[in-house]
Amino acid sequence: MSRTERTVDVLVVGAGPAGLAAAARLAAAGAGRVEVLEREQQPGGIPRHSHHRGFGPRHQPLDGPRFAGRLVDAAVAAGCVLRTGVTATGWAGPRTLDTTGPQGLERITARAVVLATGARERPRSARLIPGTRPAGVLTTGELLQTVRLHGGRVGGRAVVVGSEPVALHAVRTLRRAGAQVVALVTEAPCAPVQSPRHRVPVITDTAVAELTGRGRLAGVRLRDRDGGSTHLDCDTVVLTGDWIPDHELARLGGTALDPGTRGPAVDTAFRTSLPGVFAVGNLLHGGEPGAIAAAEGRSAATHVLRRLAGARPWRHGQVPLAVERPLLWIAPNRVHPDGPPPMEERFTLRTAERIARPVLLVSQDGRELDRQHLPRTALPGRAVHLRAGWIARADPEGGPVRVGVMSDSRQPGAGAARILTV
Ligand SMILES: Cc1cc2nc3c(=O)[nH]c(=O)nc-3n(C[C@H](O)[C@H](O)[C@H](O)COP(=O)(O)OP(=O)(O)OC[C@H]3O[C@@H](n4cnc5c(N)ncnc54)[C@H](O)[C@@H]3O)c2cc1C
Repeated sequence: MSRTERTVDVLVVGAGPAGLAAAARLAAAGAGRVEVLEREQQPGGIPRHSHHRGFGPRHQPLDGPRFAGRLVDAAVAAGCVLRTGVTATGWAGPRTLDTTGPQGLERITARAVVLATGARERPRSARLIPGTRPAGVLTTGELLQTVRLHGGRVGGRAVVVGSEPVALHAVRTLRRAGAQVVALVTEAPCAPVQSPRHRVPVITDTAVAELTGRGRLAGVRLRDRDGGSTHLDCDTVVLTGDWIPDHELARLGGTALDPGTRGPAVDTAFRTSLPGVFAVGNLLHGGEPGAIAAAEGRSAATHVLRRLAGARPWRHGQVPLAVERPLLWIAPNRVHPDGPPPMEERFTLRTAERIARPVLLVSQDGRELDRQHLPRTALPGRAVHLRAGWIARADPEGGPVRVGVMSDSRQPGAGAARILTV
């Protein structure tokens, strides 16, 4: 079957907060034809079916559909072409994508491509949880779709698994759907921060060892760090967090992936290893707030505009950023070789452990580049941020830049802090 071939100035894949915000800024700045592809029937990404008020500015939070609606309106008002029901399926060239949608098969070539395909929670099949394959095992995204989009029913007794704030959304959605939440189970040593509304029994330092039941879920077997085992009766389990960037399209195009985030490796200009291809949003790092994804989209638009204006040749950051345990990953994860980024730019990191009074230590080839004291305790499942001002001191020809974390509280005194290892 033949494909209709077209060209556009910028092709954005994914109409979630990141893609919409990037597209709106690009179109408003006169980037030419900016086209956004969205495989779902409605634009807006995850927020369009997240009805709780937790999106946008902290002082005036919006519910997800309203947050998504504003981004859609802004993109349309700026002149973007928003095409829903259209999936980018593969690449026919460095900036040429094959698509399928209501108008059939197309091949679209762009001067710049922005990948904004988001992230999903790791499903049961990928978590390698032993046991039977009963009904009643969902991710938060599936729970929201079942309850909110399709008006479906969940069971009567539920267990929520996870340590990120999204676990609390699962608790609230289950309760609204009439289920009793028996427990929130997490492998982390601490629970997600709860408000009085969320109060739920929390079992920390514990993993789900087995799912039981034939047909419908009958319960979960839990194992704590000391090897102790318990069985909880329940007919629903919601597996939350533990994000996987939706990197399939990026991978098909040959984009280098970062081993920590498993999303495309990008520098602070959101450039991937493929010339003319940028990546933004949760595709880069898993589940961060919608406002962060949108801010990344806007920031990336500035760099896309430079590219369209025929700025310098494509130089994807050569120097990788690597983290030391208990840090899990950092994004962006390449150092931009063209000088320091604007001061407001920062890196996002995650830790596997709770660290009181954390200090981030940045070094390259044994040379300390920076030391940043963080204002708050670093917690698993919560973002930690590193300011980018040290980049000017990094050697673009040097080895990887390493980021470690130290705890001031364990050994008081600036010089006495040590890197935590596990
Ligand atoms: C249950 C839950 C609750 C949340 N609650 C909050 C909250 O209270 N506050 C908050 O700030 N954040 C919250 N978040 C996080 C927020 O939803 C995300 O940060 C945000 O949606 C990320 O935006 P994104 O554009 O990167 O990705 P997404 O929103 O995931 O959008 C990506 C889009 O790309 C499309 N796509 C993917 N591949 C293709 C392809 N090949 N072709 C075409 N289209 C494609 C997808 O269909 C999707 O619409 C929550 C997330 C979840 C799961």
